[in-house]
This record gives sequence, structure tokens and C-alpha cells, in this order.
Amino acid sequence: MAIKGTVEVDRERCKGCQLCIRACPTKVLGVDTEANSWGYFPAKVIAADKCIACGACFTVCPDVAITVYKL
Ligand code: SF4
Ligand code: SF4
Repeated sequence: MAIKGTVEVDRERCKGCQLCIRACPTKVLGVDTEANSWGYFPAKVIAADKCIACGACFTVCPDVAITVYKL
């Protein structure tokens, strides 16, 4: 059975560098159209059902803004 995961982005910790978006092999993440309170456009989950809990997004995030859960 394929591994499934779920991912959460802490909008206020995120500075919108998009490293996680580029790192995700299944294109789960995109850019939010609404800025956070710092004026950054944070990463956003756009295809939650595609997460395979690989941890790539979490690993590259310099701001520890991502949490990955294995289901
Ligand atoms: S854990 Fe892997 S598949 Fe899931 S959002 Fe992060 S990079 Fe994408
Ligand atoms: S890598 Fe971290 S700081 Fe950069 S966009 Fe993704 S969640 Fe935000």
C-alpha cells in the first residue's frame, strides 16, 4: 500500500522562500495568495491528497515552518 501523509504549514513562520514547493515531488504545495502578518506570501497546501510523507519539504525549510505526519 502506498504511504500517505499530511502536511501543515505554519503561515506565520513561513517567509515564502518556496524551497518546499520546489522540493515536493508530488506538487502538494503552492503559494498562498494572501500575505501573512509579515507581508510574506506563505506556502500553502494545494493538493493534500498527493502527499506521500517523504519529508522533503520539511527537510529543506529553513524556518521550521512545516510539519509532516505519516498516516
Ligand atoms: S512530505 Fe513530501 S510529498 Fe508531502 S508535501 Fe512534503 S515534500 Fe510533498
Ligand atoms: S521552505 Fe519553509 S519558509 Fe520556505 S516557503 Fe516553504 S514553508 Fe515557507
